[in-house]
Amino acid sequence: MDEQHAARRRRREEAGGPACRDADPGLFFPPDGGTMTSGQVSRAKALCQACPVQQACLTIAVSFGDSNGIWGGTTPGERRRLWDQAARLRSVASIVTDLAAGRTVTVAALDRPAVVYHLTTAGWATERIAGALGISPATVDAAYQRGRSAARFAAALSRGSPGKAPGRSAA
Ligand code: SF4
Repeated sequence: MDEQHAARRRRREEAGGPACRDADPGLFFPPDGGTMTSGQVSRAKALCQACPVQQACLTIAVSFGDSNGIWGGTTPGERRRLWDQAARLRSVASIVTDLAAGRTVTVAALDRPAVVYHLTTAGWATERIAGALGISPATVDAAYQRGRSAARFAAALSRGSPGKAPGRSAA
């Protein structure tokens, strides 16, 4: 784990000005053979929320395939979901085309953030999206927030290393 801490510190220093510069690196990792407590996750995330290099840190983590600990304010599970949603932004193109053509389409819940994001950026109002997908405006708003996060994540990745899918270790 010490090597991992040192590598993390190096990468954060390369990103410049991390909020966790003086924090115990162990705060961001599960103990050997254990899991992070919810309090530990909350404390680590609180530092990340105030960090000027949060997006860069997240991009580095995914680019290097880091599957362990808190990076850029995310748990491993959250990073996997961001990766999945970023991929769906590309895979839902035909669904968006069908909806734009006025065809009735059933949109799976997992595809919803990507579809809502594309329709919103194409100028569709919340009420129109809600009607087309048969969901409430509040659900549209929540899906848009997730789709937008995924789009920012995908854009940051495309500016940096091509990266690879995060590993599958437990959150
Ligand atoms: S986002 Fe979090 S883990 Fe990354 S450099 Fe900032 S404070 Fe450290």
